[in-house]
Amino acid sequence: MGTLPVTGGCLCGAIRYESTSPPNWVGVCHCRICQRAYGNLFAPMGSFPQAGFRITGVPTYYRSSKAAERGFCRICGSPLFMRYTGSKTIGVLVGTFDRPNEWPLTLCHTGIESKISWYAIPDNFPRFKTGEDPFTAQYKDLLPDA
Ligand SMILES: [Zn+2]
Ligand SMILES: [Zn+2]
Repeated sequence: MGTLPVTGGCLCGAIRYESTSPPNWVGVCHCRICQRAYGNLFAPMGSFPQAGFRITGVPTYYRSSKAAERGFCRICGSPLFMRYTGSKTIGVLVGTFDRPNEWPLTLCHTGIESKISWYAIPDNFPRFKTGEDPFTAQYKDLLPDA
């Protein structure tokens, strides 16, 4: 277990966050939405209870699909947050943590149907297609086709 509270923020410092709870889980998403949203091959994300999660500064949110919206810093552009509609948790990009080394992957890979072919996953955590993992299954009707 890493240091509590879990703290982090965007590159320019305009947005900071703090969680008194550890992440419920840390997962890696390979879906196309995450790839485009973050300009990267995949997105390591920690899921925190919204109760006890505090944000300073004002993130800009946009709706990335019918299922979720994503928050970023409008000054430096750093992506930070992802929330499913009506969820009591908030996803936070592990790269924005102050101490990302302390919070390794704990759960699974999602969006595996879009994994970049030349990237080899270096672990044996379970791999799920979008809509088939325990988290997105409930949003399956809202998710766009891969
Ligand atoms: Zn910023
Ligand atoms: Zn994704």
